[in-house]
Amino acid sequence: MCDFHHSCTGKIVCYHGAVSRYLMYDAIVVGARCAGAPTAMLLARKGYRVLMVDRDSFPSDIMSTHYIHLPGQVRLQRWGLLEKIIESGAPCIRARTLHFNGTAFQPPDPPLPEGVSPDTLCPRRIVLDKILVDAAVEAGAELREGFPVRGLVQDNGSVNGIRGRPRDGEFEERARIVIGADGLHSTIARLIQPEEYDTKVSLTFGYYTYWSGVPDSGMHIHFFDDAYGVLVFPTNWGQTCIGVGGLNAGFQAFRRDIERNYLKIIDRIPELASHVRAGKREERYLGTADMPNYFRKPYGPGWALTGDAGYHRDFITGLGINDAFLQAELLVEAIDDAFSGRRTEEEAFSHFENERNRFVKPTYDLTVKMASGETIEPMEFMAFGAAMTAMIPA
Ligand SMILES: Cc1cc2nc3c(=O)[nH]c(=O)nc-3n(C[C@H](O)[C@H](O)[C@H](O)COP(=O)(O)OP(=O)(O)OC[C@H]3O[C@@H](n4cnc5c(N)ncnc54)[C@H](O)[C@@H]3O)c2cc1C
Repeated sequence: MCDFHHSCTGKIVCYHGAVSRYLMYDAIVVGARCAGAPTAMLLARKGYRVLMVDRDSFPSDIMSTHYIHLPGQVRLQRWGLLEKIIESGAPCIRARTLHFNGTAFQPPDPPLPEGVSPDTLCPRRIVLDKILVDAAVEAGAELREGFPVRGLVQDNGSVNGIRGRPRDGEFEERARIVIGADGLHSTIARLIQPEEYDTKVSLTFGYYTYWSGVPDSGMHIHFFDDAYGVLVFPTNWGQTCIGVGGLNAGFQAFRRDIERNYLKIIDRIPELASHVRAGKREERYLGTADMPNYFRKPYGPGWALTGDAGYHRDFITGLGINDAFLQAELLVEAIDDAFSGRRTEEEAFSHFENERNRFVKPTYDLTVKMASGETIEPMEFMAFGAAMTAMIPA
C-alpha cells in the first residue's frame, strides 16, 4: 500500500514507487548550475513559481575551469552576486596576459558601464555554483537535489512536465514550460531531439589540475604554433588552476602518461615550470576530449534549452559560463514576454534564439577556428573583443 502525505504546499507525495500528483509550476528548470540557477533565480524574482531540479547536490564540483569573461561578471554584479564571489576568496584578477610563442600581449579593457570593475574572477565551480543555487532558492525557487530527470510528460506534442526517479520514489511534476539547463549531455535535448546546426566535431582536448605555491601574477594564456596551449587561472584557497590542451588528434597519446605530458608542455614556460615543480599539486588531473561544437533549436511547445544544452563550443575560449549567464537573461525575458502575452510564444522564443545567436555567433566562429589550430590574425582578436563588449549589459 502506498504511503501518501500532503506537504504544506498542497502537494500529494507518494512513496514506495508510485507516481505522485502535483500542482503545476510555471517553470521547471532541469540542471542547477551556470545556466539553470540564474534562469530559476530571475524567473522567481519576477514572481513565477519555479521548480529547479538537479541530479547532483550542492555544493559540488563539475569538470570546468573558471574564467568568467567581463560580460558574465557584469551580470553577476547586477544580480547582486559578485560580492559573494569576491568574499569567497576568489582573487580579483587585474592582469590578463596572452602569450603567442613567448610574445606577451595584454588586451585593453573594454568600455564598461559606470561602477563596473575591469578585474575578472576565476572562482572554483564548487563555490560559484553554490552561490548561484542559493540565490535561486533565496529568490523563491524550489530546489530538489539528487533528482535525476528520466522522462518528459507530453500531451499532443507539447511538453508539460518531467518524470524523475530520486531515491525516495518516482515523481512526476508539471509546468507551463520545462527548461533543459542540463549541460552538454542534456537528457532533455536527447528526449526532444531538436534540430542541430552549425555543428563541428570535437577539435581539442584539455587536462587541468590545481597547484599551491605558484605566485599569483594574474591570468595567463599561452598559445604555441603547434596548437598546444597552457592556461593559468588564480582561484580560491590560494591555488592556481593550470590547464594544458592541444588538438584532438593528440589526446590518446597524451593520456597514456598524463603527468609526464602535462609537465612537458608546462616546461615550455620555464618560469611557470619552476614554480610548478617547486609547488604542490592539490588535486588529481581532470581532462576531456569531449568538446563538440553545436547550436540547437532552443525551444518548442512547452520546452526550452539553455546553457550547454542549447549551444556548445570548445572550452578554448572559456565562454561557457559567460554564455550561460547571457542566455539566462534572454530566456527569462522570452518566457516573461510569452507568459504575460506581450508576444506570442513563437515571437518570444524565436527572438530568444535569434538574440542568442546574434551575440554568440562571432565568438563561436573564432572559437572553432582557434580550436582547429588555425592561425588567428590580430584583427580577429580585436573582433572577438568587440563581440564580448557587445555582450556587456548596459
Ligand atoms: C575542461 C573544461 C574547462 C572549461 N573552462 C571554462 C572556463 O574557463 N570558463 C567558462 O566560462 N567555461 C568553461 N567551460 C565550460 C563551462 O563549464 C560550461 O559551459 C558550463 O558549465 C555550462 O553550464 P550549464 O549550466 O549549461 O551546464 P553544467 O554546468 O554542465 O550543469 C548541468 C547540470 O545539469 C545536471 N543534470 C544533467 N542531466 C540531468 C538530469 N537528467 N536530471 C537532473 N539534472 C541533470 C547536472 O548534474 C549539472 O549540475 C569549461 C568546460 C570544460 C569541460
